[in-house]
Amino acid sequence: MQKPEQIEVIQITENVFQLTLPIVNVFLVDHPAGLMLIDTGPKGSKELIFEGIRHIGKQPEELKYIILTHAHYDHSGSLAAILEVADVPVYASALCAEMIKKGIAFQPESKFLAFLLRLVTLFGIIRLKFVFVQPIKSAVKIVQEGDQIPDANGLEVINAPGHTADQIALFYPVKEALLFAADSVENTNKLKLPYAYQFAKISWQTFKKLATFPFDIAVFGHGRAVSKSEFEKLVV
Ligand SMILES: [Zn+2]
Repeated sequence: MQKPEQIEVIQITENVFQLTLPIVNVFLVDHPAGLMLIDTGPKGSKELIFEGIRHIGKQPEELKYIILTHAHYDHSGSLAAILEVADVPVYASALCAEMIKKGIAFQPESKFLAFLLRLVTLFGIIRLKFVFVQPIKSAVKIVQEGDQIPDANGLEVINAPGHTADQIALFYPVKEALLFAADSVENTNKLKLPYAYQFAKISWQTFKKLATFPFDIAVFGHGRAVSKSEFEKLVV
């Protein structure tokens, strides 16, 4: 099958695939219980993701669940569009769930900055694409540190604040164990904490926590996958 135009499909392990969209990576995990999508790309990514699903020999109708790592527009922007076609359970942290139900992708921690943003967007009238996404109507299943996603081979939730307060990472304890690090670390030109992290100290603590998990490969929202030993080389 010919590869879709704006998407690269990279097989990470036997049943895990990275779909490299123009600005972000999303992931497909092919479990016996069904196909799982981790993150949904920015608005307009639905067809690209469906092409990616077909590229690995599956159909969009086989999608069984979606996990959002955090609400940023490049991760949650196509969620509502995908749910219109495939009404599947969505898993997210409590804060992420609250944001995507309101269609908010970006929320500064500081009350002052939040107020400034409300002013800049004229109290929500100007729909800046990195601030607002299409709200979702479906219920969201709230997950937190240590929870396992059902029917997903022990896929475990890790609270991963720093880049954003709502972020989770995922540990997949299978033969070639994987860490889905979301945006807690990025690897576009070199491995580093993301430029846009909200709290440097918390980001660093999260990185150190993630490094304690016994994974073989780490994958990111931005940039290429690395081995555990490469991951541990990150220094700030
Ligand atoms: Zn992000």
